[in-house]
Amino acid sequence: MLPGAPHLARTADGRLRLEGHVLADLGRRFGTPLFVYSRAAMRDAVAAYQRALQGRPHLVCYAMKANSSLAVLQTFAQAGCGFDIVSGGELERVLAAGGDAAKVVFSGVGKTRAEMRQALQAGVRCFNVESTSELDTLSQEAVALGRVAPVSLRVNPDVDAGTHPYISTGLKGNKFGIAHDEALAAYRHAASLPGLRVVGIDCHIGSQITQVAPYLDALDRVLDLVEAVEAAGIAIHHVDVGGGLGITYTDETPPRADEMVAALLARLDARGHGHREVLLEPGRSLVGNAGVLLMEVLVLKPGSAKSFCIVDAAMNDVMRPAMYEAWMGIEPCLLRAETARTWDVVGPICESGDWLGRDRTLAVQPGDLLAMLSAGAYGMAMSSNYNTRPRAAEVLVDGDQVHLIREREQVADLFAHERLVRD
Ligand SMILES: *Cc1c(COP(=O)(O)O)cnc(C)c1O
Repeated sequence: MLPGAPHLARTADGRLRLEGHVLADLGRRFGTPLFVYSRAAMRDAVAAYQRALQGRPHLVCYAMKANSSLAVLQTFAQAGCGFDIVSGGELERVLAAGGDAAKVVFSGVGKTRAEMRQALQAGVRCFNVESTSELDTLSQEAVALGRVAPVSLRVNPDVDAGTHPYISTGLKGNKFGIAHDEALAAYRHAASLPGLRVVGIDCHIGSQITQVAPYLDALDRVLDLVEAVEAAGIAIHHVDVGGGLGITYTDETPPRADEMVAALLARLDARGHGHREVLLEPGRSLVGNAGVLLMEVLVLKPGSAKSFCIVDAAMNDVMRPAMYEAWMGIEPCLLRAETARTWDVVGPICESGDWLGRDRTLAVQPGDLLAMLSAGAYGMAMSSNYNTRPRAAEVLVDGDQVHLIREREQVADLFAHERLVRD
């Protein structure tokens, strides 16, 4: 009934609880919209990866774009994770949260020179490079700083991850990665540049992947390249298989992290690559089902064609439905005895795309609190201030502790950096 969220439960009194905390109480105490995360759920999710990798050289790099709030990063840093970053801003967040730059891999198809310098100075573990042009620029910047940049090439394995086109990244037509048939030449080029040292290979084929097969296909393609590159005399230390493991939003049945990792390790062994260090870059699967978004019902608008349940959260708080037509579970924080009817749950933003859930069967009244489930990933991190809406607050529950980890933004914050024209 509550898909995929191990620390979320509805108790016999009809109340929805996260790690035992009554969500309706948290919503009243901190106000709505409010993200609430379970620290235990995050720790359990990362432990599943780490257990499966035990005994092997490995590093789990949390893909922090999924949720980059400092206390979330702190939780993963304490669990021994590295981080997969995609901007200089994310690097600053890692350092502010107590993370270790030496465990950071820097991904992204368009890094600026300033970001390269920042990451070189911080001493990141590896740059995941996506083009020969980027190799040239990075080498120049490293030489200018008197450093050597550790590089991995992100190759595009041209496999179909079987996911939404906007979150599929490993196909030939995607902007990401170096084409398979150009990768060997790119490695030769990297090895020839004075500012670079080749350390690995990486790929990332997409997000919300619900099968093991695309990972194995991608790994096979990557290992073909490893063999070709090493035959050319260029050593490759680590293999980074990217992130992308899906979670259960409704009825998806993705493999568990330990199943996925076991299959990858078996394939590495079978092909004689069992000694290599394995890197993974999970994002969604570490935080997605650790969080909920609480919202209050503002207005009910029953109609003959459609009935609307208008809530105080909107597409600026969680973009996934508007952007990918994603289905997110929506549950009342307290069950009502009344009979349910079918509602479109929508936000107050002036866009018809501002919907959170369509055709949901709910018994609700204005003033009730609802919880959007599986909202821990790509929720807060993708939020905006559209319609001059301050971003939500965030709470982390941890056993009997409740921590406010981000204060609600104030409207004055939103235009603090704006200037009127002097006439
Ligand atoms: C987004 C991204 C990830 C994480 O993807 P999830 O689906 O959240 O696991 C990992 N690596 C790279 C390069 C990414 O862009």
